Amino acid sequence: MNDSNPNPAGAVALCCSHVEGATWESRLRAALPKASLTVWPAVAAEAECAIVWSPTQAFMDAHPRLRVIFNMGAGVDALMRLRLPTHARVVRIEDGGMAVQMADYVCHAVLRHFREFDAYADDAAAHNWRPRKPRLRADFPVGVMGLGALGLRVTETLVKFDFPVLGWSQSIKHVEGVTCLAGADAFDEFLSRTRILVCMLPLTPLTRDIVCSATLSRLLPGGYFINVARGAHLVESDLLALIQSGHLAGATLDVTREEPLPPGHPFWTCPQIALTPHIAGQTVIDEAITQIASKINAGFGDPRLSGFVDPERGY
Ligand code: NAP
Repeated sequence: MNDSNPNPAGAVALCCSHVEGATWESRLRAALPKASLTVWPAVAAEAECAIVWSPTQAFMDAHPRLRVIFNMGAGVDALMRLRLPTHARVVRIEDGGMAVQMADYVCHAVLRHFREFDAYADDAAAHNWRPRKPRLRADFPVGVMGLGALGLRVTETLVKFDFPVLGWSQSIKHVEGVTCLAGADAFDEFLSRTRILVCMLPLTPLTRDIVCSATLSRLLPGGYFINVARGAHLVESDLLALIQSGHLAGATLDVTREEPLPPGHPFWTCPQIALTPHIAGQTVIDEAITQIASKINAGFGDPRLSGFVDPERGY
């Protein structure tokens, strides 16, 4: 692999435990016709480039010359827990068709809660015609934790529904119509002005367990939590206790600490919790492959290349 070569064709190691692994492989072969693609558990020890989905430590150890590892999704927390080859840099998918799905999902959850659609569905099931008083958007400010490729799109879409929207990130952002706050010092203010909290953070040592009793109890009374990031952001017993105490109205969870959610887990039977099986933003194979192939074809010396993960920050 040569940084300056605009059309590098080298050994590429593919490690894909995805259910659609065969589709990934055939589409990658078509998108990278000059590359020699080796599919794990076959080993291309000379490979400087890998494309991975949930790789194992054995895969990393078998490819010590890797310089660039393309992750087939946006979240890299599982990858960052591995011991990577010394000179390897990780590149993640940026949006790749996931941002619009996240916007669908979060706006649907916000609107379902705000417009009380679950209560109307229960009424309809009981043949009960019962209009409720309209609620004011001003009473339901939505706070989005994480203003990256996905969180930004979500805040922009929520603004179009006229909700007051707050955003919180590591470094300060400027988004029209959104009250942007940044850093640990602003976290209290962010929470105390939020009623519907949305987690769109990457999972890092700083963000693990960030949604806990202390966090959730600072939300405006009748708070609601939506998690579309990672299960380990949430201390699950704290969420349940605050729902039971009535401080929180409920939650929509796309992710849980253990996936699939085990039988008998209290989330299954908590009426105030809506669950989905980690589908909020699914990788769109063609968009992801176009993004990865264009970066490989550009050569890794291209200064416009983006999506590199900072190993210090973990995202
Ligand atoms: P991203 O572009 O890396 O953005 C991450 C955002 O979080 C940035 O705004 C960053 O702040 C902020 N952040 C990170 N650490 C922080 C901290 N300690 N305090 C405050 N803000 C912090 O990530 P993305 O592409 O939007 O994806 C976000 C996450 O969504 C992924 O990591 C993944 O776990 C999850 N995800 C879930 C699904 C699903 O289906 N449920 C699908 C795809 C992704 P700065 O901007 O200042 O750096």
